[in-house]
Amino acid sequence: MAYFSIQGIQLTSLAKDFGTPLYVYDADKIREKISVLRGSFQGFPLSIKYACKANTNLAILRLMRANNVDLDVVSPQELELGLLAGYEGSQITFTPSGVDFTEIEFAVSKGAMVNLDNLSVLEKFGQAYGSSVPCLIRIKPHVFGGGNSKIMTAHPESKFGISIHQKEEILDIVGRYGMKVAGLHQHTGSDIKDGKTFQQAATALFDFAKDFKDLDIIDLGGGFKVPYSPEDPGVNMQEVGGMMSQAFLDFCAAYGRPLRLWIEPGKFLVSEAGTFLTQATVVKRDPVKTFLGINTGLNHLIRPMMYGSYHYIFNASNANDVEKESYRVVGNICETDTFSFDFEGNQNERALSIVKEGDIIAMANAGAYGFTMASHYNARFLPAEVLIDGGKARIIRVRETMEDLIRNQRD
Ligand SMILES: *Cc1c(COP(=O)(O)O)cnc(C)c1O
Repeated sequence: MAYFSIQGIQLTSLAKDFGTPLYVYDADKIREKISVLRGSFQGFPLSIKYACKANTNLAILRLMRANNVDLDVVSPQELELGLLAGYEGSQITFTPSGVDFTEIEFAVSKGAMVNLDNLSVLEKFGQAYGSSVPCLIRIKPHVFGGGNSKIMTAHPESKFGISIHQKEEILDIVGRYGMKVAGLHQHTGSDIKDGKTFQQAATALFDFAKDFKDLDIIDLGGGFKVPYSPEDPGVNMQEVGGMMSQAFLDFCAAYGRPLRLWIEPGKFLVSEAGTFLTQATVVKRDPVKTFLGINTGLNHLIRPMMYGSYHYIFNASNANDVEKESYRVVGNICETDTFSFDFEGNQNERALSIVKEGDIIAMANAGAYGFTMASHYNARFLPAEVLIDGGKARIIRVRETMEDLIRNQRD
């Protein structure tokens, strides 16, 4: 699965031109994923609401916008980034979790649609806007789905959404304030491959929706799993999209009129488009194991340590795939910051083409939840970002300097 170039540009020359650590994104790959998604849902107009917490670089948001992909945001700042990227407020959905009502008011003032996820905020929304501003309601369907417990969002103990068992309370509030519920939403979790999980969640939401008479929108969320290696395939989008489409059309027929279907993929659109380029700083031949140290750490890519996530790792400076050595790939942060995990979420060793210090070590699937989860821990700079489009590489976020670390500090 190792690849040595993107759109004809060598990874090693990207590392040389822009330095490391470096996030590199392939615009063609993002466009390809958008078209796979569109092609998988048939029989009605589909709105794709990119869950932009996966990657909020303005260049990526503009690319989405140019391809008629709307936005799902989870903070006022993501909303502002969307507006800066050229979106209209009405193309943005705000799906926060347990936020202060001032954030909701801000989103409404920008014309964004708001997704309400608890009874308290539903009540406040009713008091503030009555029937004048339509809203969406996020339902927790009590469905288990997601790559691991930290990324499951619809099971009974999840903090997200209003429990499907609180329909009476919801209807009571909606009735009291004459609220216009334009849509119902659910998002099951992330890294979901099994079509049955999507089906269960959709069925629960459709069943719930029968009692809401003003609906225009059904929002089935995101969470479509991407492939992390050839042995670990992603969701069969054609199959899952076809199944969800049919279930949606059946629901519309029963509901009595056509509605609009929204989905909110994050990872599916951008994960595979990203490659994280780092440099080997040390090969440490310890009596117990051989460590490969690289010039980055969990401050720049936290998914392995946070979720036990698998990233395919390869030596971009050595194409010899016969002579290999096993390394535990680790970062340079003063924490245990291992990058090499197996599919069960355990730290492991990876067979890489023999590494010399200075070689470029690449990680795949770095386009989603990579840069956006990066921090300044250990007072290190954030990585730079590059977008490759039309066979050309351009910098879309410059490397930081000391000035960035101290800008907001005061004596
Ligand atoms: C994070 C999130 C998504 C996207 O999840 P992916 O696994 O990246 O597809 C979609 N909807 C909501 C509400 C989210 O919070």
